[in-house]
Amino acid sequence: MITEEIKNKLRAIVGSEYVLDSEIDRFGYSYDSSFVQFSESNQPDVIVRPANTKEVSAVMSLASSMGIPVTARGTSSGRTGGSIPVSGGIALSLTRMDKIIEFDERNMMVTVGPGMRTMELYNHCAEKGLFYPPDPASWKYSTIGGNIAENAGGMRAVKYGVTNNYVMGLEVVLADGSVIRTGGKAIKNVTGYNLTQLFVGSEGTLGIVTEIVLRLIPMPAARNTMQLMFPDIEQACGTIHAMLQSGLVPAAAELMDHTSIQAVARHRSLNIDPAIGACVIIEIDGEDDAALQKQASGIEETARRFSAIEVRTAANQAESDDIWSIRRGLSSAVGAMAPNRFGEDISVPRDAFPDMVRRIRDISEKYSLTIAVYGHAGDGNLHPSVLCDMSNPEHAGKVHTAIGEIFDAALQVGGTLSGEHGIGITKRSYTEKALGTAGIEAHKAIKAALDPKGILNPGKIWEQPVKEGN
Ligand SMILES: Cc1cc2nc3c(=O)[nH]c(=O)nc-3n(C[C@H](O)[C@H](O)[C@H](O)COP(=O)(O)OP(=O)(O)OC[C@H]3O[C@@H](n4cnc5c(N)ncnc54)[C@H](O)[C@@H]3O)c2cc1C
Repeated sequence: MITEEIKNKLRAIVGSEYVLDSEIDRFGYSYDSSFVQFSESNQPDVIVRPANTKEVSAVMSLASSMGIPVTARGTSSGRTGGSIPVSGGIALSLTRMDKIIEFDERNMMVTVGPGMRTMELYNHCAEKGLFYPPDPASWKYSTIGGNIAENAGGMRAVKYGVTNNYVMGLEVVLADGSVIRTGGKAIKNVTGYNLTQLFVGSEGTLGIVTEIVLRLIPMPAARNTMQLMFPDIEQACGTIHAMLQSGLVPAAAELMDHTSIQAVARHRSLNIDPAIGACVIIEIDGEDDAALQKQASGIEETARRFSAIEVRTAANQAESDDIWSIRRGLSSAVGAMAPNRFGEDISVPRDAFPDMVRRIRDISEKYSLTIAVYGHAGDGNLHPSVLCDMSNPEHAGKVHTAIGEIFDAALQVGGTLSGEHGIGITKRSYTEKALGTAGIEAHKAIKAALDPKGILNPGKIWEQPVKEGN
């Protein structure tokens, strides 16, 4: 319970207008972009919106002294309930800390506040000829802080990797309010443990990230998009596998199955031949048009060997944007297909990708459930989406069993529960299967060392929430 006295102390730290506690505000901060239903017990007692590290530190120091849970929040585009304050307490919104702190062109590094939007950062760097590659499909609204906390991936991960590949250093406010700096601009750095990478992907459970140093790379001079259509998903998977084996590594290779393509067709009133069983969208980049042409020919030749029905290379930027908009609009299109959608985020070794797709198909048939499959096929990260109607008792009884079997299958082929969305609360019950008892104990020991009172985002990854009802 947060008393009026505590709220007054919070107001004194960040200013009255940045402490919110009305019913509507508490409701607004009780959800994210996962499929977790609203619950009274998911609401924060108060929302606090600090402007700088000093304020974050003072808020944490107060929370620590009173044992108040604190859940960090970017723009709540998270898919696993990470920013839902399941233990009540303070929802700590970092969106006011959204500035570029330093743009260091000589070292090709940028230092940013956690609340900056991913696409805004990309655009800022691009204007200066530098490239920040991680591009989650949510980049228009996700924040860099949220990307760090979830180790976000994106379309270009095939060639350029994910968020952690670009994080050089962090400023982090610990649970007791103390401030540490990890890593920095030195490219080689083995002074002490690699705390930077420990905080990346820690889902707000170990510290509040208040400043981020990111490395940048030169912007590729030329870029183009290809769209490949196949009669079946097997040929699409075969093409991606053969392409990567031959050394043709595109920046992105996104796969959509028949259900996903038809979802986009319906959503955007496109006339897509129902005979098309799978679509692969590829981004190629390089130093000039000749390099692109060479890659495009190699990809086309591979796709034709796997019976591609159509190979289209964008003739200009507008066509490129048009092809990409299909992929970027996919999540909403799939979501619009059924009253309920459970979108998952498994990741498997690249060579297990076709096997995993087959296993999902089998699960779909076994439970007579529609499961749309799409994802970042080039790096083995799949988003199977179970489409259902939870008001139908027949569906409600089997959806979670089917999802459990998808996770089991991912682990059996050497994969994992999450490639980029994290665990949050939606996958909490499967964590032990993936990490093992000793693995969970190691996590608990790290958590206890950095957050001995357990106030940082309690109830996530493997923990049960402090509040009843979750
Ligand atoms: C349509 C759609 C498409 C998406 N596509 C992708 C995709 O392609 N790739 C991908 O990786 N993800 C994707 N996501 C998921 C989501 O956008 C990412 O997880 C993103 O990184 C979350 O950022 P956020 O600012 O919204 O964080 P939030 O959802 O607000 O928070 C996420 C987690 O980060 C913690 N957190 C936030 N800020 C901080 C901070 N400063 N310090 C410590 N912890 C913090 C929160 O406590 C929470 O645990 C998608 C989501 C949607 C809705």
